Amino acid sequence: MTQSGVNPAEAPLHPLHVIDLIRKKRDGLALDPREIAFLANGAADGSIPLEQLSAWLMAAWLNGLSLDETRALTLSMRDSGDKFSPARLNKVAVDKHSTGGVGDKTSFLIAPIAAACGLAVPMISGRALGHTGGTLDKLESIPGFRTALTLSEFETVLQRCGASIVSQTPTLVPADRVLYALRDRTGTVESPGLICASILSKKLAAGLDALVLDVKTGSGAFLRNQSDSEYLAALMVATAEAAGTRTVALLTDMGQPLGHAAGNWIELVESVDLLRGQRPPQSEDLRELSLILAGWMIHLGGKAATPEQGHQLAEAALEDGSALAVFFKMIEAQDGDISVFADPTTFHNPGATQILRAWATGYISAMDTTKLGWAVQRTGAGREKAGEPVDPHAGIEFHARRGAHIEAGQPIATLYATTPDLLPEPIALLQQAITISQTPPVAVPMVSRIFTRETAETHLQNAVR
Ligand code: URA
Repeated sequence: MTQSGVNPAEAPLHPLHVIDLIRKKRDGLALDPREIAFLANGAADGSIPLEQLSAWLMAAWLNGLSLDETRALTLSMRDSGDKFSPARLNKVAVDKHSTGGVGDKTSFLIAPIAAACGLAVPMISGRALGHTGGTLDKLESIPGFRTALTLSEFETVLQRCGASIVSQTPTLVPADRVLYALRDRTGTVESPGLICASILSKKLAAGLDALVLDVKTGSGAFLRNQSDSEYLAALMVATAEAAGTRTVALLTDMGQPLGHAAGNWIELVESVDLLRGQRPPQSEDLRELSLILAGWMIHLGGKAATPEQGHQLAEAALEDGSALAVFFKMIEAQDGDISVFADPTTFHNPGATQILRAWATGYISAMDTTKLGWAVQRTGAGREKAGEPVDPHAGIEFHARRGAHIEAGQPIATLYATTPDLLPEPIALLQQAITISQTPPVAVPMVSRIFTRETAETHLQNAVR
């Protein structure tokens, strides 16, 4: 009871005002679930102006979100629109999501592999974010391919192909659709709470039975150092498990681009080469990481007793062509024209091309992969403003991996830009980002740590934030 005789638990709820929530977060205070839901719903239905959402995002980026705020934001964003139910598919629904990297195209291998192994993969994905590329932008370089499907179209593609990759829409996770694009433009991407809510809102809205998270660490990750990446991995596993989805997170190296291509169309070509059974040495890391992640999905989906057995099944689906068949079927089901894969080099039509040659002899000892990612975006492969089109043909092919010994004058990258005047900036960024030394770098493991529900909870309890 208060002095006025009113029990606070029974007091009427006051209306909320966005300005109060911005000031509260700015001053380092935690918002309650009602306040968080008010923000997520206001983002989804457009009732909160973008400048106020941006201010709140920056306050959240600077002061961080507590565990409770992160959970509340994840669930409110998940509930901000319609949800997909995979029940009628009569298959276990599994998915993988990465926290974002450069040249990270594992989804194009993993989704069809898992589907070829008898699982359903309802994948709600994203566009280019910060220095990282976007699965949807890459897929849209296929003429006709549609990512904005209705829920019934999504279900039809899944029934027919076992996998479908779609975008957030005004009705499917609309809060993430708005906040994701705003974060991209306001420098508010690299926040554990915001990343967790963005990724898991999409994954939980897809009604998954199980989820594999690929949490990047290293110079190209949003959270570069190992302990921040571990915290993010644990946070996401604990949040998804609390919401009822069986989840594991693998901490994987993003200290160099994954595979050899980074851009839009060129990433699809690299993926289809692997789906066709080719083994180019520069794509070996991409192939192996995809098989490891798919192996976990197949295991969590109940089709293999261990992740290692899942890896074997995944490799078989890659080698026998069944994953390629699913991928092409999915593209056609989403109105894409697969004839462009008959001769991918003829379809590739960049406005300007330049080869960058090594400026010294030695080992590629380090790559600032975030800078490499910005170089890729600035060829025209990424956007400056939300909603702008991206150039499907822009991007960079990397010819040398970290640790390679190279001779001065040897090509280390080929740049494809929209127009010749766009070439100097990415070239300068590559020259700053790549270090050539006389000694080779220390080898880095592909997967440095795995978090399950148990290890995630313990990690969060002991984490000092
Ligand atoms: N992927 C997402 O969907 N959201 C993020 O914030 C980062 C990666």
